[in-house]
Amino acid sequence: MNALEVSDLSFAYGAREALRQIHFSVPAGRFAALLGPNGAGKSTLIALLTRLYDVQRGEIRVGGHSLRTSPRQALRQLGVVFQQSTLDLDLSVEQNLRYHLALHGVSRRQGCARVDAELARQQLTERRHERVRNLNGGHRRRVEIARALLHEPRLLLLDEPSVGLDPASRQALGQHIRQLCNEHGISVLWTTHLLDEVQPSDDLLIVHQGRLVASGRAEDVSEEHGGSLGSAFHRLTASGVAA
Ligand code: ADP
Ligand code: MG
Repeated sequence: MNALEVSDLSFAYGAREALRQIHFSVPAGRFAALLGPNGAGKSTLIALLTRLYDVQRGEIRVGGHSLRTSPRQALRQLGVVFQQSTLDLDLSVEQNLRYHLALHGVSRRQGCARVDAELARQQLTERRHERVRNLNGGHRRRVEIARALLHEPRLLLLDEPSVGLDPASRQALGQHIRQLCNEHGISVLWTTHLLDEVQPSDDLLIVHQGRLVASGRAEDVSEEHGGSLGSAFHRLTASGVAA
């Protein structure tokens, strides 16, 4: 069973083509890294997956539900951490989460239990009453992850979640998210432009100028296109792609 299926997806901003015939899937419980240079189309894809933009061509299915014909069921399966943080810095960790639940119309009692559970899973219980402004970048990201998981989605989307973090926090965040996959069966699509965020056993999708230029286990993609991930990535993204 696939958590996400994207088929023949194309998108243009007016005359400017941003994605062309993208085709991939993320199996349940897998960590998929979507790697591409700036401008490759990563955030455009996230915007389509979250229905910020309407699909122009192709199809997206989340947990088997079509985003086009069953948007409610599809979006219920999705949690998202956008590239730009959307936390209220002057609210506490807990208030940021509660505010989100209120927006979704979750009952107070049910909401309390979910907030407690997510804070514990993100190791934030002791920080719950602190203002977000006082947290470091890594902890702020965890608050966003907790918030994205409050409604218990099966698939978590993270758009360049490590931007702005120091190397140690970047590594800790990557480990933490892989643990969510391995121990809780959550599927993840993690976008990045940084090679060192990809591990050999990850599912890897490389996008360049709006096209998917490679996909498969990261170690297999590396082997097939140059030996190391670095040489594969440079080879696949060095030049313009033929139309
Ligand atoms: P990435 O997230 O991989 O850096 P984006 O999805 O943000 O890439 O951008 C993909 C392409 O679409 C880029 O060429 C970018 O300039 C263009 N683009 C992104 N957003 C818009 C927009 N709102 N209007 C027009 N072009 C856009
Ligand atoms: Mg982006």
